[in-house]
Amino acid sequence: MDRVELREGSRVALLVPGSVAYVELVMALLAAGIFPIPLDPRLTPYERERILAGLEPDLVVESDEAVAALRATVPSSGSRLPRGRPMHVTSGTTGVPKGVFSGLLSDEQASALVAEERELWGFTSTDVNLVLSPLYHSAPLRFGMGTRLAGGRMVVPGPFDPAAVTAAIERERPTTMFCVPTHLQRLFAHWDEAGVPDLSSFRLVAHAGAPCPASVKERLIELFPAGSTWEFYGSTEGQFTACRSEEWLERPGTVGRARPGRTLHLDEDGTIWCSVPEHARFTYYGDPAKTAEAWRGDRFSVGDLGRLDDDGYLYLDGRREDLIISGGVNVYPLEVEHALREHPSVVDVAVYGVPDDRWGQRVCAAVVGTASSASLDAFARERLAPPKRPKTWTFLDELPRTLTGKVRRDQLPRT
Ligand code: ATP
Repeated sequence: MDRVELREGSRVALLVPGSVAYVELVMALLAAGIFPIPLDPRLTPYERERILAGLEPDLVVESDEAVAALRATVPSSGSRLPRGRPMHVTSGTTGVPKGVFSGLLSDEQASALVAEERELWGFTSTDVNLVLSPLYHSAPLRFGMGTRLAGGRMVVPGPFDPAAVTAAIERERPTTMFCVPTHLQRLFAHWDEAGVPDLSSFRLVAHAGAPCPASVKERLIELFPAGSTWEFYGSTEGQFTACRSEEWLERPGTVGRARPGRTLHLDEDGTIWCSVPEHARFTYYGDPAKTAEAWRGDRFSVGDLGRLDDDGYLYLDGRREDLIISGGVNVYPLEVEHALREHPSVVDVAVYGVPDDRWGQRVCAAVVGTASSASLDAFARERLAPPKRPKTWTFLDELPRTLTGKVRRDQLPRT
């Protein structure tokens, strides 16, 4: 291997499966002022090339041996705090994934970053963090790093498998876990067959990343210890809200209020903007135009749409890119999906627009479940105004989703 000189500001792409050693390497690199770029090791060569071309890493790490070798050469982080955030790469749900780059933080900013995560989630040395999601995704990595920085332990059972997660819960007595709604759905289905494990060790179970069906949320609240379940709304760029389940029960559908230190604003189109403190600012690496589009002063937006109630609780209406304009009327896929999910024979559903000569865009629905199109039509007629009713129903065995639980709308049938 060629010798590579890493110095402050260098970038190291990590294309290896998540592990405790992986998180420790990420922390050591950040303490040394080097930016890790956590990536999905299963990217195809085509995807990998496209992403890496824009992020220009100085080194690409592709094996556990390379993780260990690099870990041995980067000075131990000791008590040094991360001097930046990993260069997270967005999921690419809406196009080419973007590299979210924080730059080097000052010592004060680095301590503020660590302190606010610790305050929000209360990480301590007695925490045992069970990892369900891939660690190249920002939320699970932040949970892992927060736990390790507080002196707690991590348990990484490997690629998501409900039986392995259940065994880890029984064996390790975890206190915290981050997940996406599809993890919960798969765990609950497994527990229906295999029995519910003892969940009393949990003090914090947080989900985010995609809309959570009400039935899943209700089951979550019922199964896990009172006060332990949370939702937050965020993206690779930052976390906007946090919501205790008790708040959700009072205001079903909300994703909560702005987390401390953040303020939410809605513009005239309903686009969500969030003001953030200095240590949470970022640019999109190598893309000044995208960066300029995302920021207005100290506020940034990732293009999600929403509403705020009088008490500051946020309700999401989906992503600006997914908004369907049919016959000149705005149709929010999330709202239609929410209504259709109440049909007893609908297991999962995605609503999206396809180009249409007459309407501009036509509302389509891809449905998982045993409902017939006639019963879906009747159901939609009862609940939705005419422009919101799907004109085409397609039936699928399952919806195409990213590993982070998001529906791949670009892969839905275009007929
Ligand atoms: P790209 O920006 O490349 O298209 P991405 O935005 O899908 O990728 P992420 O940063 O992983 O990548 O996802 C963030 C998005 O996930 C948010 O902008 C929002 O649309 C959605 N999301 C996050 N939390 C929630 C939640 N609690 N409920 C519903 N949707 C959520």
